[in-house]
Amino acid sequence: RAKALGRSRTAVFDEALRTEALERIRIAAELRHAIDRDELSVVYQPIVDMRTGEVSAAEALLRWEHPELGQVPPNRFIDIAEESNLIVQLGRFVADDVCATLARFPHLRYITMNVSARQLATSDFVEATLDALQRHGVDPGRLAVELTENVLIDAVGSSLRQLDELRGHGVGVGVDDFGTGFASLTYLKRLPVTFVKVDRSFVSGVPTNDDDRSIVEAVVGLAHALKLQPIAEGVETDDQAAFLQSLDCPLAQGYLFGRPAPAEALAEVSRP
Ligand code: C2E
Ligand code: MG
Ligand code: MG
Ligand code: MG
Repeated sequence: RAKALGRSRTAVFDEALRTEALERIRIAAELRHAIDRDELSVVYQPIVDMRTGEVSAAEALLRWEHPELGQVPPNRFIDIAEESNLIVQLGRFVADDVCATLARFPHLRYITMNVSARQLATSDFVEATLDALQRHGVDPGRLAVELTENVLIDAVGSSLRQLDELRGHGVGVGVDDFGTGFASLTYLKRLPVTFVKVDRSFVSGVPTNDDDRSIVEAVVGLAHALKLQPIAEGVETDDQAAFLQSLDCPLAQGYLFGRPAPAEALAEVSRP
């Protein structure tokens, strides 16, 4: 009986894997047409200066609305796009939208966009990014890129050179989901980093969870010590906001301040 049960479990597991694999193949195929079919858009989540309530910046996040699959979340298609190198086209689409939005809203200090390993490894990444800025007449100092620490650790020479070059033009460079990777911190000294995003998984536990409090304190402290700007992710409650402010981490994004929304919403932001 145990054996039969084991076998049927395996069958269920195989079936689930099969469904998952088929779905990935379908997503890869559909994603190929997503740009041409106008199914992609970029939404912006405000980054707020909690001292003034001013929206000083925003993060660009990709959205895909498929006619049959509906809203496909980035977590379901970004890694597939990376495997197939489609991420390079998607990244250019995002960069163009970001630059158009920066041109449209001069009061925004900067907009950050997420960049994956593949994009950074593409030899004309810098050229394409500067081209987007130029086409829209935007100062490179108003653009920033976010990379996860794993991307930064794995980055080889040519990718690091591109990062240095971008930074040389004034583009900001940030570490996304800071603290969740398995990185030694020495890379922060080596790389042209200007800000770190304190991951939502830690922010969500403050101020009640002792471990999360210690981690957030340590991460923000480290950022200050290295003269990097800390930005808190996923702030959802007033208590979290107050705790971050007490640590001198005034920049934050999260549902408490605003959900990712079409660029139009940035017009309504309060100005100092
Ligand atoms: P991320 O860069 O860490 O982005 C933050 C994610 O947290 C976003 O999810 C955002 O909608 C969500 N979020 C923001 N505030 C809150 C909050 O208060 N509570 C909760 N529960 N969630 C919050 P989203 O848009 O689904 O994106 C997921 C991930 O997909 C991103 O994580 C990023 O790694 C990736 N991604 C999104 N757009 C792009 C893109 O254009 N290029 C690349 N390479 N990756 C992207
Ligand atoms: Mg990000
Ligand atoms: Mg993040
Ligand atoms: Mg995150």
